Parts: sequence; structure tokens; C-alpha cells
Amino acid sequence: MSGLTLTVHRATNQIGGNCIELATADGRVLLDVGRPLDAPKEATGLLPKTLDLSRPVDGVLISHPHQDHYGLLDELPASWPVYSGASAGKLMHMTASIFGTAPVRDYRHWSGGEAIEVGPFRITPHLTDHSAFDAYMLLIEAAEKRVLYSGDFRRHGRKSALVDRLMSEPPPDVDVLLMEGTNLGSDKPTKSERDLEEDFVALFNETPGRVFTCWSAQNIDRTVTLYRAAVKSGRTLVIDLYTAEVLELLADAGKLPRAGWNNVKVVITRSFARLYEMKGRKAFVERMAAHGISAAALAQNPGKWVVMIRPSLIRDFVSKGVVPTAGDAWSYSQWRGYLDQPDGVTLKAWFDQGGSRPVHLHTSGHASIADLKAFAAAISARAFVPIHGVAWDGDRAGFNNIVRLTDGEPMMIA
Ligand SMILES: [Zn+2]
Ligand SMILES: [Zn+2]
Repeated sequence: MSGLTLTVHRATNQIGGNCIELATADGRVLLDVGRPLDAPKEATGLLPKTLDLSRPVDGVLISHPHQDHYGLLDELPASWPVYSGASAGKLMHMTASIFGTAPVRDYRHWSGGEAIEVGPFRITPHLTDHSAFDAYMLLIEAAEKRVLYSGDFRRHGRKSALVDRLMSEPPPDVDVLLMEGTNLGSDKPTKSERDLEEDFVALFNETPGRVFTCWSAQNIDRTVTLYRAAVKSGRTLVIDLYTAEVLELLADAGKLPRAGWNNVKVVITRSFARLYEMKGRKAFVERMAAHGISAAALAQNPGKWVVMIRPSLIRDFVSKGVVPTAGDAWSYSQWRGYLDQPDGVTLKAWFDQGGSRPVHLHTSGHASIADLKAFAAAISARAFVPIHGVAWDGDRAGFNNIVRLTDGEPMMIA
């Protein structure tokens, strides 16, 4: 058999859980091995049934450190090498060692823009703009064919210039574009992180008390947005231990705010500190104490603080007298849909009790519909294979050369 075969084992008709295989006669690679977003927390055995585990794989290429792209790594044979960006590798390893167990594996790293050989495949990673840090699009060449995998991306974050550049100088002769379409059929906000920063500045300025904000510690663009808005309004951003460690881990990946900077404080809460000690990370907690404050400090000078909030912090906050008031505001800075899930419900109830003002400020980690169309047009691939979306069978105006696959259906790239 010659040629290149593409099989989307999972993601043709859902958001996340990506598992995609490219195979030649001489080898195969996987693009992501994600956990489906709707899988119950403890569920195992989630690998797509069409994925053959009995034959070797030259590499599992992880586009970015989101669970819906790497969450099933543990279920793959340990001998399969795993490739990702260096910072992405650190984040995946750190998250596993705090919240689970970090499996021993053969981890290898690429650098943006530098092609690597993986079996018969030539892989060129292109750093891209997404709500996960160190996210890549991947150009895969083999058997004289060329496939571009978009991973997850957007064009309105702090790295939008990278996507613009790829669009203005696209790789030539792309046979297949595998592209995400998370925001098709939705009306999620897609304003720029810079505009969002101004919205936060306004909120911080008009609120007499504290502004509690809930966002993902690994959404570094959002941390930067909140930090910059805090500085502009003369407030201090208060982060938890986990966020502090994420930022410390990425310190050599760029000029990111972190513990020790003016306008940044780490709140050391009892349960989090205990979890860290249990996981053998006591030294980190002690080191952070130099930049830390007790939750009790947040009960004083309310107008000074922008406070990270998540349900697991509530009990320790309350025990130190940190209770929402009518002078406070709270901002849910994640997808609005999560507010209906247990964590969101808990947060909302806590703030409602205190009469704090809710102000939902967020922008999507994924491209707007207009940007999806513009990107597909710029790449102008011979075949366009839609993935990572739930509305690809709806209005497809603006997308050309669509080849609609089903999960597990092989496509010979001719
Ligand atoms: Zn995803
Ligand atoms: Zn993602």
C-alpha cells in the first residue's frame, strides 16, 4: 500500500475528544488523544474502538495541553512516544502530579517552526493563538502528501499575529485541512483579549469592593488580561497556589506576571497548602510564603483586590472572614454554560447570598465563524475535513471542498 490514509477516530461530530490517525505503509502517527468533554470523571476505557492498539505508533502528537486533546494518554501503550511543545509538556506533567499521577512515558519536545522527523512523517509545528498555552497547528508531510491540522485556535487572543502570518504565507499545496469549528452554530463572545482588558478595567474602577474572578489557571492570556487590568486600576491580583505554580513553571517561556511582581499576591489557603504538602510540594508553599498573603488580608481594604475564586477556595475564605458583600462584584470569566454545572451553581449561590453584582466578562478560546471561514479560504486545501464541532452539518456557506467523514471512516488521501 502506498499513499497516506487519514482516519478521524473521534471528533467528526463533537467538540473535543480528538483522536486522529495518519498512516502510510511504513508507519503511523496520532494527532491528539483527547478525553471526550462529556465523559464522567472516573470513566476509563474511553479510547475509540477503531484505534488499533496492537500495532506500534511512531509518535502521539499533542497539539496543546487541554484535556480534550491529551486526556486519554494514560490509556495508550506506554511504549508510544509522545511529542508536544516543551511548555505544554511541563503543564501536562505538573497537572498530573498534583491532581492525579504522572505516568512514566517517553516525552519528546518540538520547537515552533522547526520540522522534525517522526517515522516516515515530517512534522512542522506552528505556534498558534488559543486559550491553552503553547498550542500548535501541525503540518504533516508524508508519502508526498501534505496535511494541516488546525488543533484549536482563534484569531482574537494575544497571539493573533501568529495566525495572521500563517494565513498570509500559507503552506503550499495542502491536500487536507483538518479544522476545528467549535463556535459554529453558537453565539459565544469573540471580542479581543485587549477589548476584554478594557472591560475589566471599567469593572475594577466602578466597583467599590473586591472583584472576585473565576478563570482557568492555565488560560495564560486571561491571567495577563486580568493582571494588566489590575495594574491599570491600581489593584492587586490575588492568585491561588496552583496558578502561582503554573506561572512559575512558564517563567522562561516569556514575560508573564508571577509571584514576586508588584500587583500580584498569592493567597495561601489551608486546604490547598495541605494538598500541596501531601503531594510533596511543601517547599513550593514555603517559597510562595514570601509573596503570599493570608485570606484574612482580603477582608481588609476591599477596593484593593481582584481575587481569583473557585469553589474549593470558599470554605477557607469564609473561615477567615472573606464573605461576599453588596459592595463586591464577581465575574465569571469562562464559558457561560459552565455556570449551570455544579461548580458554577455553587459560586453563583455564594455570591447571590452576599448580594454581590455579577458581571460576566469572557471571550472564547476559539475562532469566530468569520475567522474560521477566512482561515479555511487562506489555506485553500484540496479537501477540507471538518472536526471538533457540532454544527458542521448546518450552514456551510463559506467553506469549500468539504469532505464530511464519520468517526473511524478511513480516507485515502489521493
Ligand atoms: Zn479542544
Ligand atoms: Zn483547546
